[in-house]
Amino acid sequence: MQAAFKHILIAVDLTEDARSVAQKACALRTAFNAQLSCTHVIEPLSLAYGGDVPMDLSTIQDQLQETAKIQLNEFAQTLDIPSENRHLVYGRPETEIHSLAEELGVDLIVVGSHGRHGLALLLGSTANGVLQGSPCDVLAVRVGD
Ligand code: AMP
Repeated sequence: MQAAFKHILIAVDLTEDARSVAQKACALRTAFNAQLSCTHVIEPLSLAYGGDVPMDLSTIQDQLQETAKIQLNEFAQTLDIPSENRHLVYGRPETEIHSLAEELGVDLIVVGSHGRHGLALLLGSTANGVLQGSPCDVLAVRVGD
């Protein structure tokens, strides 16, 4: 049985919560002397709005991408994550995080979890989505308390 993590992937939504998720991921990187990668997934606006918006969304999408790129780079820099380990991707977070984890051969994905109640619990969260069908272990760090 493998008892160490060699490559950890931290998935970040670029909110304040990302800090506490990062702290745990960095502690594990140090403990296991592991490689650390990070990702942020940009959800295409056409996906979020079902393709039914009667306007050209490409300019807004470009701006979102530019902002996310800057924020991900700033975030990664504070954690000493080299540029080749920073991944800005498009699509549905759960799907893209799984694909990237497989592609990179990571053995642990670290995400934040809000421990929601009510409707959000029924609908599920990104953390639940990542956990289901993950190609490797998943650590859900409790955030937002
Ligand atoms: P949520 O369920 O949307 O509150 O998100 C819970 C956690 O899922 C966040 O703390 C992140 O670790 C991860 N996550 C959510 N959205 C994204 C995203 N767009 N890209 C990468 N990770 C995300």
